[in-house]
Amino acid sequence: MPPGVTARAAAAGGRYLVQPCTALAGADCGCYLARPLACRRYRCALLAALEAGEVGLPEALAVVAQARQAPASPAREDFLTFHFGRR
Ligand code: SF4
Repeated sequence: MPPGVTARAAAAGGRYLVQPCTALAGADCGCYLARPLACRRYRCALLAALEAGEVGLPEALAVVAQARQAPASPAREDFLTFHFGRR
């Protein structure tokens, strides 16, 4: 596990990253080049839509900017889950 990332043993076996991740630095990954394999493999719904050509890069970047600026609220959580959760 990279320095700065906290993982715990899962009851069902394996490990999981404690969230919010201890390596998160603002909106950036504090260990990006050494991030865990699960982080490297994760494809959020927005990235999947971008890779499938369903949205363009300007639209995807606008969604990211909106996510970074939105104040904490239940609506923001729904927005984040929709765009950055798994498809
Ligand atoms: S990609 Fe995110 S979850 Fe993974 S180590 Fe970096 S900050 Fe943590």
